[in-house]
Amino acid sequence: NLRNLGNGHGRESALQLFVQAKKRINDIFKDIGDYVTEVDTFVKGVVAKGKGGEEEIISPQNAEVVEGFKAKIDGIREVLSRDHMKVVFFGRTSNGKSTVINAMLREKILPSGIGHTTNCFIQVEGSDNEEASLLTEDSNQPKNIQSVKQLASALSSAKLKENALIRILWPKSKCRLLREDIIFLDSPGIDVSPDLDSWIDKHCLDADVFVLVANAESTLMQTEKNFFHKVSARLSKPNIFVLQNRWDVSEMEEDIDKVKQQHIDYNTQFLADQLQVVDRREAKDRVFFVSAREALVSRLHNDTGIPTPDRVLMPGFQARIFEFANFENKFEVCISKSAVKTKFEQHTDRGKSITCELRAAMEQVYTTSNELQEKQHQVQQERAHELDFLVKQLDLLTREVKEKIKVMVEDVERKVASALND
Ligand code: GDP
Repeated sequence: NLRNLGNGHGRESALQLFVQAKKRINDIFKDIGDYVTEVDTFVKGVVAKGKGGEEEIISPQNAEVVEGFKAKIDGIREVLSRDHMKVVFFGRTSNGKSTVINAMLREKILPSGIGHTTNCFIQVEGSDNEEASLLTEDSNQPKNIQSVKQLASALSSAKLKENALIRILWPKSKCRLLREDIIFLDSPGIDVSPDLDSWIDKHCLDADVFVLVANAESTLMQTEKNFFHKVSARLSKPNIFVLQNRWDVSEMEEDIDKVKQQHIDYNTQFLADQLQVVDRREAKDRVFFVSAREALVSRLHNDTGIPTPDRVLMPGFQARIFEFANFENKFEVCISKSAVKTKFEQHTDRGKSITCELRAAMEQVYTTSNELQEKQHQVQQERAHELDFLVKQLDLLTREVKEKIKVMVEDVERKVASALND
C-alpha cells in the first residue's frame, strides 16, 4: 500500500547513529568521571599522608588540578545530556513549513493555514512527560496545552517579537523523531521584514540541517536566497535541503516536466554554484518535489487506520508521498552524521585531552614515588654497609679482648702460682 510509505515503521532509523553515539560517548564520560573520582580520592589520601613530611609525592597544586577535572567532566556530561539534532525550517509565509513539520511528526502539532501565520520561532522538542506543554522565554514555568486550537490561541494572544522563541514540549512517547532526539524549529515567514542577522545568531548557529520550504508554483525569492548566503557566511558548508512544496497543485499544470527541470537547474545552481555547499551531483539529493498536505493527511489517516478519502489526494499522490519519504531518508542520514561530527567531535577532543593530562599527572606521581623508593633503598644499603662494618669491628674487638683476657688470666694464674710457691 503506497499510502503507507514513509511511515517510519519497520526500518532501522539512520537517526540511531546519533542516538547510539550519544549513548556511547555518555558511557565513556561516565567511565572517565569514575576514574577521575578514584584518582582524586587517591591523590587526596597521598597529600594527607605526606603532610608535614619533607618528601612530597604530589604537590597540593597538582592535586587541585586533578580535582578541577571532576568539574570539567561534569560540565561536559551536562552539555552532552542537552545535545540533540536540530533542524530549522525557512521559507515564505504559507509555503507550508508548519505542514511539513506536522507531516514529519505525524501529528497536527503546529497550527497551520490562513490566520495562523507563525510570527515567532516555534520549537518542537521531545519531553519525557505524557502531557504536552509550552514554554515561553519570559518564564520557566511550562503551561499545559491540550490541543492545537489552544496552542494557536496561546500563540496569537501573546505579543511576541519576531525573533522570540516558544518551545513546545511534546511527549516523546507519541513521536519517533522526537524520541530519537531531533528538535524542529519553525521560523516566521522570511517575507515579514526579518532581521536575518539576529535570526541566525539567536537560532541557527547550532542547527545541523536547514530545510527551505519553497513554493513550487514560483521560483526562489531573493530574501530566501539572501538568508542562505548569510548562513553560509557564518557556518561552514551548512546542510541545506529544498522542498519544492505544493507539488500536488503544480503537477496539474501543463509542461510540468519542463517546470520541474527548471526548478532542478535553478536549485542546483543555487546550492552548488552560488552557495557552494554541495557539488552538482549531490545537489540532486537535496531537492525534492513534495506535497506536505498530502503526506500529512495520508499519514494521519494511516495511523488511525481510517482510509484516506480519495478526494483529499490529488492524482499521482503516490509518487509525491514516496518523494516525501525519500526526502526524510536523506534528511535523517544527513542530520545524524552532521550532528555526531559537530556535537561530539569537540567533546571527544576535550575528553582525550583530560585523560592525557590525568595520565601525565599519574605518571608524575609514579615517577616521583619510584625515585623516592630508590633513594630509600640507597639509604638502607648504606646503613647496611655501616652495620656490617660495625659487626666486623665488634668481632675484631671481641677477639682482641678475649686474647687480652686470656693473657691476663694466664698472667694472674702464673703470678698466683708463684706466690703460692713462695
Ligand atoms: P507556513 O506559513 O509556511 O507554516 O504554511 P502552512 O503550513 O500554515 O500552510 C499554509 C496553507 O497551505 C495551509 O492551508 C496548508 O494546508 C496548505 N498547504 C501546505 N502544504 C501544502 C501542499 O503541499 N499542497 C497544498 N495544496 N496545500 C498545502
